[in-house]
Amino acid sequence: MKNRIIKALATLLIAAGSGAAIYNNTGTDITLADGTTLESQDLTKSLTKHYQLRDVSAAINITIHHTAGPENASLESIAKFHVEKRGWPEIAYHIAINQDGAIHFLNEIEERTYHDSGQNTNSIGIVLVGNFETTEPSAAMLYSVKLVTESLCKVLNITSIRGHRDTSPTLCPGVNAYNQLETIFY
Ligand SMILES: [Zn+2]
Repeated sequence: MKNRIIKALATLLIAAGSGAAIYNNTGTDITLADGTTLESQDLTKSLTKHYQLRDVSAAINITIHHTAGPENASLESIAKFHVEKRGWPEIAYHIAINQDGAIHFLNEIEERTYHDSGQNTNSIGIVLVGNFETTEPSAAMLYSVKLVTESLCKVLNITSIRGHRDTSPTLCPGVNAYNQLETIFY
C-alpha cells in the first residue's frame, strides 16, 4: 500500500506531541487513520525517471546527512539541484529536518534513493538542513532526529544508525552534528 510506512511514522510522530511541524513533500497526499490529511507540497522531480522500489521488511539501516548549505535553504532548491544538475529522479533523501525541528517526508521509505553511494539498497537517508561543520544543530533539530529515528525503529528492523562519514570519504553530516548524534545514539 502506498505510503504505508510514512503513515505509521507520521502517526507515531504526532502521538509523541513534540509540536514539531510535519510536512509531506512526497508528491502524494497522505490520509492518516484519524482522517487527518497531510497534503503534499510537491518538489521538482524528473518526469521520466523513478527510483526503484525495494523490500524494507528485512534489516535496514539509517544514514544521517547534512545539506552543507545555509540553514534556510529550501528543499525545493535542493530537489532542483538533484534533478536538474545531478540527473536523479527526485531529491536524494527520505526525510529532512530543519533547525526549528520541522520534519519533512520527501520520498517513500521503500524507494531506493541516491543518498549514500554503495549503501542505497539498505539505507534510509535523513538529512539535516544546514552546515554542521560550521554551525551547531539546535536542540529542536536534535530532538526531532531522536523522534524520527525512534519511530523508524518501532516500524522497521533498523540495524544501525550512522553518519554519512562512517560509510564514505566525506565530512557529512558535519563534525558538530556527528558529535551530537553520538550522544543521542551511543
Ligand atoms: Zn551525506
